[in-house]
Amino acid sequence: RTVYLNGQYLPEEEAMVSIFDRGFVMGDAVYEVTCVLDGKLIEFEGHMTRLERSLRELEMTCDISREEWLAIHRKLVELNGVTDGGVYLQVTRGNAGDRDFHFPPAGTPATVVLYTQSKPGLANDPHALTGIKVISVPDLRWHRRDIKTVQLLWASMAKMMAEKAGKDDAWFVEDGFVTEGSSNNCYIVKGNKIITRNLSNDILHGITRGSVLKMAREAQLEIEERPFTIEEAQAADEAFYTSASAFVMPIVEVDGVSLGDGTPGRVSQRLREIYIEESRKVGI
Ligand code: PLP
Repeated sequence: RTVYLNGQYLPEEEAMVSIFDRGFVMGDAVYEVTCVLDGKLIEFEGHMTRLERSLRELEMTCDISREEWLAIHRKLVELNGVTDGGVYLQVTRGNAGDRDFHFPPAGTPATVVLYTQSKPGLANDPHALTGIKVISVPDLRWHRRDIKTVQLLWASMAKMMAEKAGKDDAWFVEDGFVTEGSSNNCYIVKGNKIITRNLSNDILHGITRGSVLKMAREAQLEIEERPFTIEEAQAADEAFYTSASAFVMPIVEVDGVSLGDGTPGRVSQRLREIYIEESRKVGI
């Protein structure tokens, strides 16, 4: 693979970052993952807008323009011959010179890394046909989940707990309500109504979430943005999650309780079709 590091396109073995980089020492970094379908970038503008917001919220600077970001993404997709997959982008606060809690001096350049991941047949994931199973775990993450930082340890541990339990993913629960999935936003469906947690600092403002809710409204589905409990989810007709790399993924079991008839629901399946079809049309 050819990767991008601080202005250079390099073979992945040659891309080196300092042991004093703030991303390595402090988890002081933000990231984005933009999906690639048919060689085209999906929701590129949305991901870049969120990246700019994450950087701003953490008082990080990175002087790469939208046009340059787009050029880097496109060049990596082309160089690596990616048809389906994604582009991972990470910006850290840079090389601090030594370990120090204080931010490095103003003017210290950010470290910028991008690389592609190929996932042939991404839109035909067989999990979407059977639906996936989730367990709930307490949400032990920090309280600025609206910022897309690389501090993913609890999300990673939650996924491992799900795997050990023989399930596919974990839902985080805080104060009795579901916040989001380990790497996705989640939804329950009751009749023609979709219920999903409202935006706040408690969850990541998913780019896919924004688009799927818009499409759902256009399809005359009712949307209620509010927190819901595990019990309410278990009594729902269906559930699903959304993320850039999984689109809309049906969920058929929550903490051992089957939803509906235990197969992917009608609304989830329809939204998945609409989202993938629309993405193929508007990708750049
Ligand atoms: N919530 C969390 C915690 C995530 O990590 C992600 C994606 O990585 C999402 C939600 C979904 O966001 P998006 O639709 O922008 O991929």
